[in-house]
Amino acid sequence: MKIETFQNLLVGWMILALLLVPVQLGMAAPYGRHNRRSWRLQINNRIGWMLMEIVSPLSLWYWICRGNPVMTAPLALLTGLWTLHYFNRSIVFPLRIRTRGKQIPLAVVCSAVGFNLVNGFFNGYWWGWVAPPYPASWLGDPRFIAGALLFVVGAWINHRADTMLIALRNPGETGYRIPQGWLFRYISCPNHFGEILEWCGFAMMAWNLPALSFAMWTAANLVPRALAHHRWYRARFANYPPERKAIIPRLM
Ligand code: NDP
Repeated sequence: MKIETFQNLLVGWMILALLLVPVQLGMAAPYGRHNRRSWRLQINNRIGWMLMEIVSPLSLWYWICRGNPVMTAPLALLTGLWTLHYFNRSIVFPLRIRTRGKQIPLAVVCSAVGFNLVNGFFNGYWWGWVAPPYPASWLGDPRFIAGALLFVVGAWINHRADTMLIALRNPGETGYRIPQGWLFRYISCPNHFGEILEWCGFAMMAWNLPALSFAMWTAANLVPRALAHHRWYRARFANYPPERKAIIPRLM
């Protein structure tokens, strides 16, 4: 593929993320608490998470391996972090969640598979076919170091918040409680906040357009989802803490 074609496709992909924001603000993606019976075809929630998320590292590695990448230390670290994140999201996270008997619409699984295929393509194709190799000295670049710090902090916040949310249920329960303490004192969705920080950090480490597009898509998906969660909490619990924001402490 010509580099111009790849770049045009990528810019179109980033514009699509922005165009979908109003749609996502108007309608919360129908999974978890926002799932509806009107979405007829549904599958087991845990299996759904495994199927849709495993596609991301597979797609990334497929495109990298079909190309001619120069696997210097920075690229090994970046692809390793991606793989580690998705090992957690596609295997560990689905095994930990307490959603027994819950389902997820097949349409959600298919659209996430589609996203992960395309996102893996853009990033894998870039590294496998287009990008000049990172020099080993990139590891000492301030952008790489600051991005790595942001990635680690974001991943820690995301993981800790997911762990606290999962622990709100006893095994076998499927209802909802008000999360309390730690970052939940300030925002309803620290897991989504952490995930956005994580991929912004990754984009800084990678310093390329495909990684930036991933960070944009993450924010475009998760800011509307956090706002929908926040509205849902306030409607559901009369005693929901009024000072708590949705996703950015004190702001939003
Ligand atoms: P949620 O916060 O909606 O749910 C996380 C888990 O905790 C679910 O099992 C949920 O159960 C349970 N849970 C949440 N709140 C409560 C509560 N108040 N009481 C009891 N149980 C609760 O996260 P998402 O499902 O939106 O996302 C899961 C993970 O995937 C997050 O880490 C998120 O950042 C990530 N993600 C990343 C995306 C990206 O674009 N990079 C896109 C989407 C998600 P239930 O499912 O029954 O509601």
